[in-house]
Amino acid sequence: MTDHDYRDIRSAVARLCAGFPGPYWRGLDRERAYPTEFVRALTEAGYLASLIPEAYGGAGLPLSAAVAILEEIHAQGCNAAACHAQMYVMATILRHGGDEQKQRWLPEIAAGRLRLQAFAVTEPTSGTDTGALATFARRDGDGYAITGQKIWTSRAEHSDLMLLLARTSPKDANAKHTEGLSVFVVDLREAVGHGLTIRPVRTMMNHATTEIFLDGVRVPAANRIGEEGQGFRYILSGMNAERILIAAECIGDARWFIAKAASYAKERVVFGRPIGRNQGVQFPIARAHAACEAAALMVDKAAALFETGAPCGAEANMAKLLAADAAWAAAECCVQTHGGFGFAEDFDIERKFRETRLYQVAPISTNLILSYLAEHVLGLPRSY
Ligand SMILES: Cc1cc2nc3c(=O)[nH]c(=O)nc-3n(C[C@H](O)[C@H](O)[C@H](O)COP(=O)(O)OP(=O)(O)OC[C@H]3O[C@@H](n4cnc5c(N)ncnc54)[C@H](O)[C@@H]3O)c2cc1C
Repeated sequence: MTDHDYRDIRSAVARLCAGFPGPYWRGLDRERAYPTEFVRALTEAGYLASLIPEAYGGAGLPLSAAVAILEEIHAQGCNAAACHAQMYVMATILRHGGDEQKQRWLPEIAAGRLRLQAFAVTEPTSGTDTGALATFARRDGDGYAITGQKIWTSRAEHSDLMLLLARTSPKDANAKHTEGLSVFVVDLREAVGHGLTIRPVRTMMNHATTEIFLDGVRVPAANRIGEEGQGFRYILSGMNAERILIAAECIGDARWFIAKAASYAKERVVFGRPIGRNQGVQFPIARAHAACEAAALMVDKAAALFETGAPCGAEANMAKLLAADAAWAAAECCVQTHGGFGFAEDFDIERKFRETRLYQVAPISTNLILSYLAEHVLGLPRSY
C-alpha cells in the first residue's frame, strides 16, 4: 500500500463503522428509518466535509480520499447512501457559486450545522432525458416562483438545503433542450409548508427517497447558482465526481460480499468437507474478486484524472459501470455461496443485495453509460 491508499483514513473509518454493526442496519431496514446516528458520527468526524476546501472549514482533501472513505464504509457493511450526496452536491456551489453564496453555505455545511443532502433533478415524466424536465422557475420580482414535480429526491426529509434544476425558459425557446435550465438552492426549512410538499417513496431498500411537489415556491434570486439558463452545464460538471464516488461504494460492497462469501465457504461443511473446496463454489468467488479488483483500478484511474483536472468522462462512466457490475456479480455469488442462509435477514446479505442493485439504475443506468461510451468514445451514431 502507498500513502495514496489513505491507510489512516481507512482504519479510522473502519473503527467508526464498527459502532454500527449489522443489527443497527437491520433494524433501520425493517422500519425504513434514517440512520441518524451514523450520519451524525460521520459528520462529527468531518468525513462529509472532506472535499470542502480548508478556506471554508473543510478538510480540503482530494477526490481519492473521498473514494477511500466511501469504499471503506461499504466494505464494512454500512451504507453511505444516507449522506454521500453531502460530499459532492456542494461542488456545484463551490465551482459555480458566487463568493457570497460560498461564504453563506460552505462553512456551515463543513461545520455540520447545515445539511445539503438533496439533489432534485429527476422528474416523473422526463426520466433520464433531463432536457425534457418541466418544473418551471418564473421570475417574480427579486426572486422566482417555482412550480412542478420531482421524483426520487433522496434524503429531502433529512436535508436543510436542496439543489434543484428547473426550467427558466420554455423548452422550445432554446436551440437545445438542455439550455434554459437553472440551478437553485432551495432552503427546505422555509419552503416546506409554503408551496413545497415532500412525500416519501417506499422502495425495495431503505433509501429515504421522496417525491417533491412545488406550487409557486418562492426562492430568492440570490439562491440561483451562476447564470440563468446555464444550469445543465453546472450539474453535468459535478457528475463525474458523483459517478466516481458511487463506483467507490460499489467496490466497497463487492469487497464485503467477497469477504463474506470466502469466509463462509471455508467454514460451511457439507458432505464432510468445506463447500469452498469445490471448484463450483470457489470459482465464482475468485471471478468476482478479479472483476472487483479490475473495476477498482478504473475507479483509481478516474479519480486520478479528475484530480489533475484532465477530462475523465469516459473513465468516470466506465468506473461506475464496471464497479456496479462487480458489486452485483459479487452479491449474486455471495447469496449462492450461502445457499438458504443467503436469504436470511440475520446474515445481512439479502439487505446488501437489495442495496447494491440500485447502482445498475442510479444515478445513471447501465444502458445510458453504454450509450455514452458508444457515442463519445467509439464514435458510433447517437442512438436516441
Ligand atoms: C432509490 C433511488 C434514488 C434516487 N435518487 C435520486 C436523487 O437523489 N436525485 C435525482 O435527481 N434522481 C434520483 N434518482 C433517479 C435516478 O437517477 C433515475 O432513476 C435514473 O437516472 C434512471 O431514470 P428513470 O428512472 O427515469 O428511468 P428511465 O429514463 O425512464 O429509463 C427506464 C429504463 O430504460 C432505459 N433507457 C432509457 N432511455 C434509453 C435509451 N435511449 N437507450 C437505452 N436504454 C434506455 C434505462 O436505462 C432504464 O433502464 C434515484 C432513483 C432511485 C431508484
